[in-house]
Amino acid sequence: MWLVEKWIPKNFEKPLILIAAAFALTAILLSFEFNLLEANLYDFRMIRGPQKAPDASIVLVTLDDLTAKALDEFAPLPLDLHTRFLESLEHYSPKAVGYLVDLNQVNQVNPELFKKEWGTRFVEVAKRMTAKGSVVLLGTPYDVTGEVLPPFPLSTIPHSIAVIHKDGNVFSEDKITRRALVDLNEKPVFHLELANRLGLIASGFSPRGSFAIPEIDSRYFFFRYHGNTIFKPKFPDSLNYKTYSFVDIMHGTLPKNALEGKIVLVGTLSKDDSADFAFTPYSKTAFVNPKLAIHANILDSVIHNDGIVRSPNWFNGVITFVLSLIVLTSVLNSTPLSGVFSTLGLAIAFVVLGQISFYEGFWIRESQPLVAIFVSYYLVVPYRLIREYKQRWDYQKKNEVLTQVEELKTNFLSLVTHDLKTPVARIQGLAEVILRKSSERLLDRDKESLTHIMDSTEELNRFISSILELSKAESQNLKLHLESKDLNQLIERSIEGSRAQARARNIKITSNLEPLFPVKVDVSLLSKVINNLIDNAIKYSPMGSAIHLESKEVDSWVQVSVKDQGIGMNEEERRNLFTKFYRVNNSTISKTPGTGLGLYLTKFFIEAHQGRVEVESETGQGTTFKIILPLQGAEPIADASRSPGLTRILPWLTRKGSLRSNPSKTANEKEKAHV
Ligand code: ADP
Repeated sequence: MWLVEKWIPKNFEKPLILIAAAFALTAILLSFEFNLLEANLYDFRMIRGPQKAPDASIVLVTLDDLTAKALDEFAPLPLDLHTRFLESLEHYSPKAVGYLVDLNQVNQVNPELFKKEWGTRFVEVAKRMTAKGSVVLLGTPYDVTGEVLPPFPLSTIPHSIAVIHKDGNVFSEDKITRRALVDLNEKPVFHLELANRLGLIASGFSPRGSFAIPEIDSRYFFFRYHGNTIFKPKFPDSLNYKTYSFVDIMHGTLPKNALEGKIVLVGTLSKDDSADFAFTPYSKTAFVNPKLAIHANILDSVIHNDGIVRSPNWFNGVITFVLSLIVLTSVLNSTPLSGVFSTLGLAIAFVVLGQISFYEGFWIRESQPLVAIFVSYYLVVPYRLIREYKQRWDYQKKNEVLTQVEELKTNFLSLVTHDLKTPVARIQGLAEVILRKSSERLLDRDKESLTHIMDSTEELNRFISSILELSKAESQNLKLHLESKDLNQLIERSIEGSRAQARARNIKITSNLEPLFPVKVDVSLLSKVINNLIDNAIKYSPMGSAIHLESKEVDSWVQVSVKDQGIGMNEEERRNLFTKFYRVNNSTISKTPGTGLGLYLTKFFIEAHQGRVEVESETGQGTTFKIILPLQGAEPIADASRSPGLTRILPWLTRKGSLRSNPSKTANEKEKAHV
């Protein structure tokens, strides 16, 4: 335990310390890159979240299996077929043609064709289309020497680098295509060049979220996958770019207006050429997007300027810090269950917010904040457990000490009172003897003094008896000696015993005792209880008032009540009435001798009989005490001094038709203090 006290600051929960803890955690987390996790979270948003629809003006023309079959050729197709395709495409009046076929590979199939009429015809048709207002742009590959130009004469057609970047050595290094080049050596790449020639963007335009990589003198941006992130030509147009077969255009079988005003990207979907494939974020094996579809997405992101902006580092830091602080604070200050729910709720809310902002084009980095949420939780839970364990341990220790003190006190009291008993009895006896034998020789004043001595010793005796009674009860040795008894007899005997005391105060005691079945009680304890109630009624009532006792059976209970017209008490006093040594703090009480133990013992004894005590009282209005005992009497219990709480509820649980089966609805509710 000392270790805990040593290492965990005492006031860990103080705001400043929590802030410092969150800050330290943030600093540690920010020093790590969680690229793989971040990339997966990025992909999750890209694939699972809602996507912007693809631009309907972009269409793809593919050199697909259908084409290969119809022409009985394998990709790459020889140049003559490309030239005839372009001549046919001219009649469809597209707005732009982006030719994304590697013409150097085409050249390798049959270099002769470039030198013959096919090369010239290809260039001529491109020029004719340009003259009619269409944009024709060739996409070229790139190698260490720079842009790889197509063979002459096709190199005279406008061209620009069109490469697909794979995260091979950056970010999560998983070869997934998430970013695209904006420019290289300050020359815009194919997509920007095409958009610029179409007049859709100004020259020098930077797509949203562009960032520079000075080492290779280039700029990139995170483009957006539109509609379906998995490209499949058979998907509906609203989810994918409209796709046509190369051969259908070449043979002119498409409707005349199918490509009018469209931006046509021509490329291959063939799976034979692995270079044509770039991994999609979705799957590394099952579905892969052809380069052509990726080019369409990049072009779309450029045209609509809807690239994704990565959150800056400071923003990432603030979010991580705030979330960590929220978790630390909430888990420390709530119940374990709500701690779990609030942490999970926070994580889910954060992910949802991340998804929404991603749709809007702002990429909130999620890896560090999510790690912060869970690390904060797992840091604070053990601390919390240790703290609670320590508290419990402290309470236990405190309790043990309190119990010991209580025991010492009771033992001390019982020892002292026991030793006092004999000398007090001797004083009382001697005073009586002197008063009896030498009465005629004594002056009146001396007689009065002797009477005072006797009264005081009587009072002292009562006090000693109460203390002894208390220690007996609390030492758990209280045994009930049960016998069937008519309670009315005990009541009458107590009334008789109190007559003299009542007469001295001119108080009249009346009673109305209904015939009762005998009840099993400990006669000695019950007599003490009734005596105490009558004694109190006399002590705390004005001269000349009246006390009324009543007994009756109600259902399976016997009820004895003692009613006076005395000083009464308020609600707070009623609440404390049965506490050990409690005495109401007012002038009448302080002038009246008493120990504050009578009612405590009354409650104790009655509960030992499985009964209960009720009181109704108002200041100045008098008081009524009621003892309610079960008619069948108490079971002889081995340990009558066991928890009063249990004995208090037993009658309620076991007996039907109790006196107050619905106590909350009783009329005098406010005046009753249940014991
Ligand atoms: P004691 O009478 O010796 O002081 P009790 O335990 O019998 O101790 O009573 C506790 C306190 O409850 C009394 O000091 C008194 O303030 C209050 N009390 C008890 N009975 C009455 C009553 N009949 N009327 C008004 N106050 C009472």
